[in-house]
Amino acid sequence: MISRLSDIIWPPRSLLSDVIVDRPGVIEPALWGELRFLNEPLCACCGFPLPDHAGPGDQCAACLSQKPAFDSARAALAYDDHARQLVLDLKRGGRRDGLPVFAHWMAAAAGEQLVRADFLAPTPMHWTRLAVRSFNQAAWLTAALARASGKPWKPGALTRVKRRKSQAGLSASERRRNVGGAIRASGTFKDKIVLVVDDVFTTGATLEACARALRKAGAAEVHAVTLARVVRSTDILS
Ligand SMILES: [Zn+2]
Repeated sequence: MISRLSDIIWPPRSLLSDVIVDRPGVIEPALWGELRFLNEPLCACCGFPLPDHAGPGDQCAACLSQKPAFDSARAALAYDDHARQLVLDLKRGGRRDGLPVFAHWMAAAAGEQLVRADFLAPTPMHWTRLAVRSFNQAAWLTAALARASGKPWKPGALTRVKRRKSQAGLSASERRRNVGGAIRASGTFKDKIVLVVDDVFTTGATLEACARALRKAGAAEVHAVTLARVVRSTDILS
């Protein structure tokens, strides 16, 4: 009733434009067609797109040369201009009407690893940052995915013990150093299968740190799912 009333006062807008849509959290067909969903063939480990001739179980060059601490990572969307808008509206704008549809996309991307997971855990935000922003978008995504899948989620399974510098403008190795040791698991998770949830996979450094912390706490497997993933076309061709 309340949502109907608010619709009359303020009709729902597309997640990607000012177009008025029939219900909150949807995207008009023209822009929907432009979203770049990530589909197989993908690196079995990090989810990076592979050439069409790749088979199941194949991995990208980066994972073959250095195996990540997580067992697998998947993302719903390539991080292009549309995905960036969805992420920034969520992260900076606190826009929540897309969460149910994002959860649906992330459930499809995580597939079997969501089904197998004992629980979901958001990547943590340091409390000082949380105090400024008042919400953690990774926790919102995790709660939405938990609701969509019926899986339990543990908001405090991972905590950030050091406030990190902003990751923007840092190289992959600088990001790893920046995040390394900053994330701790709270509790023991012996033999658990954990699915870590974040908004964007950039270099994977944050998810690496989460996976190392969860393994230290006894987790048997750590998988990850994000709404979007940075995919550079030069990396695909090489
Ligand atoms: Zn890979």
